[in-house]
Amino acid sequence: MKSSEEMTGSSPVPSANFIRDIITEDIKADKNSGRVHTRFPPEPNGYLHIGHAKSICLNFGIAADYNGRCNLRFDDTNPTKEEAKYVESIIEDVRWLGFDWGGREYYASDYFDLLYGYAVQLIKKGKAYVCDLGAVEIRDHRGTLTEPGRESPYRNRPVEENLGLFDRMRAGEFEDGSRTLRAKIDMASGNINMRDPVIYRIQKAAHHRTADKWCIYPMYDFAHCISDSIEGITHSICTMEFEDHRPLYDWFLDELEIFHPRQIEFARLNLSYTVLSKRKLLQLVEGGYVAGWDDPRMPTISGLRRLGYTPESIRNFCERIGVAKRTSLVDVALFEYCIREDLNKRSPRVMVVLRPLKVVIINYPEGRTEELDAVNNPEDRDMGTRKVPFSKVLYIEKDDFREDPPKKFYRLTPGREVRLRYAYYIKCVDVIKDEETGEVTELHCTYDHETKGGDSPDGRKVKATLHWVSAADAIGCEVRLYEHLFLKPNPDDPKDEADFKEHINPNSLETLASCMAEPSLAIASPGSRFQFERQGYFCVDTVDTSQKRLVFNRTATLRDTWARIEKAARGTK
Ligand code: ATP
Ligand code: MG
Repeated sequence: MKSSEEMTGSSPVPSANFIRDIITEDIKADKNSGRVHTRFPPEPNGYLHIGHAKSICLNFGIAADYNGRCNLRFDDTNPTKEEAKYVESIIEDVRWLGFDWGGREYYASDYFDLLYGYAVQLIKKGKAYVCDLGAVEIRDHRGTLTEPGRESPYRNRPVEENLGLFDRMRAGEFEDGSRTLRAKIDMASGNINMRDPVIYRIQKAAHHRTADKWCIYPMYDFAHCISDSIEGITHSICTMEFEDHRPLYDWFLDELEIFHPRQIEFARLNLSYTVLSKRKLLQLVEGGYVAGWDDPRMPTISGLRRLGYTPESIRNFCERIGVAKRTSLVDVALFEYCIREDLNKRSPRVMVVLRPLKVVIINYPEGRTEELDAVNNPEDRDMGTRKVPFSKVLYIEKDDFREDPPKKFYRLTPGREVRLRYAYYIKCVDVIKDEETGEVTELHCTYDHETKGGDSPDGRKVKATLHWVSAADAIGCEVRLYEHLFLKPNPDDPKDEADFKEHINPNSLETLASCMAEPSLAIASPGSRFQFERQGYFCVDTVDTSQKRLVFNRTATLRDTWARIEKAARGTK
């Protein structure tokens, strides 16, 4: 991707798509004097999610590639659902993703005066009227896909009367919902959006930016096209559900005879085992199903950031899924592949024992500590090595020992020798149990001092290498393991009669409160990312970590299901 004021960081080379084809054609035809100007228009009624990231990457990416510009515009026309805190989170998230709007941070609410003026212009042209029907009556008059609508009895009010009433609507003389301003288009249109849509409604609610200045607010379809026009947007890129609104988009701009951007629709992102609708995400937050918008299980940008995702991995994912008109369900395994690929390259390896089992090396001198060399990243030797302390008492993973091993269990069992990573071969000689419960509480092992560094000079082989930490040096920490938040691949399938919340995975979070980390992690700062050997990728939690408490989130497991899916797909070809 070309660098410009719009874009920082690196992403893979963008692939061609139908939107780029349209823009290239427009430039060839010298439309807009070759200018390319896009916008990302979030409504500040929730936090951004991975679906928005697709739109952000597309809009900012196109601007960067064509030496154009991309505005950040808040579509804040609905005061009852919108809040300043959402504005702040959106700004933080777009910036974190690596995009820069060059100071062009705009608000539809900044255009309320202009929008009002344009509405008056439509009234004067005889193209808009004040309607006294209530919401239910308007719906009853609208007709259906197969039946035309019926005209409102107020449709033919004289212009002067409309101007007077609209002015009084603005002045706050009427109750919420008692009147609307409607475009006068065609109640028999095959497109229901063209059947005299409401363009202004009365809503006596304070707005987070304009406070009590207004008690009438423009509808999205009216505000959006005009905002695009005011900002000189050349290509207004939106999702497919607005395709049927495009005639209305065009109608407003044509009737007002103002600059006319081109609306282009693409298919929204759907991701398996995930819901991507702010309305539904809000239900999860308000119902206490998750700890907040930035819960690491949420598909929000802030949740993904807290989970340990990188901006690069998200941009890379958005590039890989491409842009099309047809809706599809993207496999979440592809998303996980993208973060693994990124973290594999950049994250230092460390040893952390999640479910500790005490091991005493009976032939190791009491009170002695050795500093052993450990490789920070075998994928990147430039990341160097670090020292890891080894001593008489260690922790290994409970799962790495079986007193009565099943077939193909190659890890530690009584009498068997295994390698401790970067350290020595050890052999289990005794198993200590809790007398009452029979639970294994401690292992006694011997070590072979000839195998220092993890290799045997006599070529003796072992079948397993375990991670471990020295008990005296270990840092206690909390580790949170996550599974997908939903059990069904398509939890909000419209054909499904059950509420999407019924598909929530009851085991989506497992908290391990007494994990043991190697001492190098004592200085790990919130947000830093690691690969825990044999356990996956982890990120220091930015919310719950404090001086006294170190909390990790598992970003991804090491197992790569996407690679397996691809391999299987190749195999069947
Ligand atoms: P939601 O359905 O989650 O409430 P929205 O479309 O109402 O989303 P907006 O804030 O209006 O949310 O969206 C801002 C921009 O992001 C719009 O241009 C919208 O088309 C785009 N967008 C929203 N969801 C997705 C998605 N899943 N995939 C791609 N683009 C999306
Ligand atoms: Mg919306």
